[in-house]
Amino acid sequence: MNQERVHTASPDFIAQANIKPDDYRRMYRESIENPDAFWTNVAKRLDWYRFPTDIRDVSYRPDDLHVRWYQDGRINASVNCLDRHLAARGDKTAIIWEGDDPSKSERISYRDLHARVCRLANALRNLGVKKGDFVVIYLPMIPEAAVAMLACARIGAPHCVVFGGFSPDSLGTRIADCSPKVIITADEGLRGGRPVALKANVDKALQRPDTHTVETVVVVRHTGNPVNMQSPRDRWYDTLVEGQPAVCEPEVMDAEDPLFILHTSGSTGKPKGVLHTTGGYLVHTSFTHEVIFDLKEDDVYWCTADVGWVTGHSYIVYGPLANGATTVIFEGVPNYPDFSRFWQVVDKHQVTIFYTAPTAIRALMREGEAPVAKTSRASLRLLGSVGEPINPEAWEWYHRVVGEGRCPIVDTWWQTENGGILISAIPGAIPQKPGSATLPFFGVEPAIVDNEGKVLEGVAEGNLVILSSWPGQFRTVYGDPKRYKDYFTTYPGTYFSGDGCRRDADGYYWITGRVDDVINVSGHRMGTAEVESALVAHPRVAEAAVVGFPHDIKGQGIYAYVTLNAGEQPSEELRRELVAWVRKEIGPIATPDHLQWAAAMPKTRSGKIMRRILRKIAENAPEQLGDTTTLADPSVVQTLVNERLVR
Ligand code: ATP
Ligand code: MG
Repeated sequence: MNQERVHTASPDFIAQANIKPDDYRRMYRESIENPDAFWTNVAKRLDWYRFPTDIRDVSYRPDDLHVRWYQDGRINASVNCLDRHLAARGDKTAIIWEGDDPSKSERISYRDLHARVCRLANALRNLGVKKGDFVVIYLPMIPEAAVAMLACARIGAPHCVVFGGFSPDSLGTRIADCSPKVIITADEGLRGGRPVALKANVDKALQRPDTHTVETVVVVRHTGNPVNMQSPRDRWYDTLVEGQPAVCEPEVMDAEDPLFILHTSGSTGKPKGVLHTTGGYLVHTSFTHEVIFDLKEDDVYWCTADVGWVTGHSYIVYGPLANGATTVIFEGVPNYPDFSRFWQVVDKHQVTIFYTAPTAIRALMREGEAPVAKTSRASLRLLGSVGEPINPEAWEWYHRVVGEGRCPIVDTWWQTENGGILISAIPGAIPQKPGSATLPFFGVEPAIVDNEGKVLEGVAEGNLVILSSWPGQFRTVYGDPKRYKDYFTTYPGTYFSGDGCRRDADGYYWITGRVDDVINVSGHRMGTAEVESALVAHPRVAEAAVVGFPHDIKGQGIYAYVTLNAGEQPSEELRRELVAWVRKEIGPIATPDHLQWAAAMPKTRSGKIMRRILRKIAENAPEQLGDTTTLADPSVVQTLVNERLVR
């Protein structure tokens, strides 16, 4: 493998950082040795109606499984994201909205956001939405998405945000899962200049018998194109909120009242409705957001995720707004109007902190440095990554080309189930190694266990579990407690992440991919990340995915899918070169048996490679592809099936 490199933030960065190296060690120790005192202190960052005294009540024992934080505390999330900022930050920009169309943007102050949220909250109450009623939100990346979430939080109605790119069927399944009275949607979304038929999708989803609970569809006028409005069910958002008071009495919630459910993105199978509650979630998201992103009052913070994913919930809406930050909501895509868009937006709004996914970085890398180089990016001071392991090659490119060597990178490992970040660098305190999520956040006790559940010490590789509880942890899988329990029974007494992981001599954690994707070649277990990173390290390769397939002699062989950089042509010579390259980078054991060219990879809507599908193709079992509805572009699969190398 490439020589492991260590990047430490510059002395200037460290001097201004919120958390210094010694702070990290001290605070981590305190958080583990005396968690109640530690998390009592952290909870003071929020405004509570009743400050909690019962800090943690947790048991991972399968026969007594429960996770409760701050359970005697009373709080409202929207008050923490809005009202408490009004006195000192009323005129501060809460949201910068950047449209898909580069000529459209808007700045919304905390005062204005508060008023908008209150108006919608009142309107929802008038529609009969009460504390505990679910509301489904199916919106594009427009300010109303954040407004809707906060309006629900204000009246104690848990929301279920469905990504605006999901089909009527995926939407219908999620509606059926939580039986809402109200859906909030828009006429259309807009992505890369093309309209997305949101309202029409809702109409289709509501034809299913299992979505009959929906009484009202609230429709934001966004593109203004005509849509079918069915009276009295469908109501325009603007007429509904018009005339509503700009204040709204918040519902006083118990810390453990549900804030939302959100279905996982579906890389591995049927989506689960992950349930998060109010107090602990808000403590965890706001605290991690401040510490890991080294947040300052003047920062302009941009997370490019969609609010349809947990990253959007925790690090576009709740974390940043609870912290009184300025958060960017971007409607568009990285390659529209061209591949410079991200950096044009950075320059336009003087973004200081930028947080995106490896899939976006690899896609931009594929186009070369020119689209980046023609922008300034001088405002940037910190970069982040989330969603998949970031290949060291992509990390270095992000650091060198986008950040011009100036910006530390926080590679943040966490899951929908976790609510917020669990393993990540803290930029001024923890030196970074490209490809490693580095060290655990406060209160988080990761461990690596072997397949029998034995905890491995020191340098080790195996299954990543968490021994401790943290406040933002999920409380159940909605409507499916058995599935919740599964997380705690694989390795009893621990939370099992489903990810494989390696710990190095410095105690750094390296996510090796999903345990289900591990390849076993002649008794050697190999994570997908390492082989893929070796391929991506080749100058002509943009993206790679590897899976195992049945092999007579080795048990499993390695099947690699490779996407080349823009402008590169596949050839037999290059194929041989890449196989030899992996052999040299990792060793003969990792030599791919097959290497298939892939014009594009099958990905989830959130941009993650779906290896489950690639495995079936490699196994020559295309009839067993399973559920492909959460794929971003199902047509990619057919091409790969047609061109498969094993028949
Ligand atoms: P599903 O659980 O439905 O299959 P999913 O796991 O893709 O979907 P998420 O909760 O969005 O849904 O993603 C969490 C997973 O993403 C982690 O388990 C891990 O595999 C991967 N991941 C996220 N961030 C990182 C990171 N920084 N480094 C490595 N892997 C990451
Ligand atoms: Mg998962």
